[in-house]
Amino acid sequence: MSFEEAALCESLKKNVSKSGYVKPTPVQKHGIPIISAGRDLMACAQTGSGKTAAFLLPILQQFMADGVAASQFSELQEPEAIIVAPTRELINQIYLEARKFAHGTCVRPVVVYGGVSTGHQIRDLCRGCNVLCGTPGRLLDVINRGKVGLSKVMYLILDEADRMLDMGFEPDMRRLVGSPGMPGKEDRQTLMFSATYPEDIQRLAADFLKKDYLFLA
Ligand code: AMP
Repeated sequence: MSFEEAALCESLKKNVSKSGYVKPTPVQKHGIPIISAGRDLMACAQTGSGKTAAFLLPILQQFMADGVAASQFSELQEPEAIIVAPTRELINQIYLEARKFAHGTCVRPVVVYGGVSTGHQIRDLCRGCNVLCGTPGRLLDVINRGKVGLSKVMYLILDEADRMLDMGFEPDMRRLVGSPGMPGKEDRQTLMFSATYPEDIQRLAADFLKKDYLFLA
């Protein structure tokens, strides 16, 4: 698959080429068709593999095809995608990449992470949010404060899942996936990325992904 074959809409194509991406990396080449086909995916991919664009591009393309509603100011936001990563640096990188690809579209990404006050992040969130990027604890915080509803979630992405386990985030991940309103695994598309694939990650994949999920290494 080349970026031309990925059948991206004009604004996404433009944003991809503005980023200087010419040739898809292996995880993009193999991952984008799987995600576009609506399948759940467990991918073993390292930082630097291009995994962020591998999940962002097919999701944004689907939003464009569905004509996702432009988000509006509201005290309760109902994002269509939730992206979880273990650290502030990582989730910020994902958020910046999402902003870059969503430029010129009506899709609005927002980022929330711990270690700073929530006020500013909540104000940004209330301006509208289609793609909510966050670290596990802060995501639960904004959900528990009633600022985020989960019933419209179509995509759940867990990035660097092995690091999330190493950092002790398994209970938070399970709380997030089991939060009121979160569609069950049959009713959402779930994508997990991890550098390694030990038993605890396999167990998480079995719990969070549909039975027929595809595995990419
Ligand atoms: P990631 O693994 O998603 O963190 O991406 C690692 C770096 O590679 C980021 O700086 C991306 O902007 C860059 N990148 C991702 N895909 C491509 C591509 N197809 N061509 C050139 N650079 C890319």
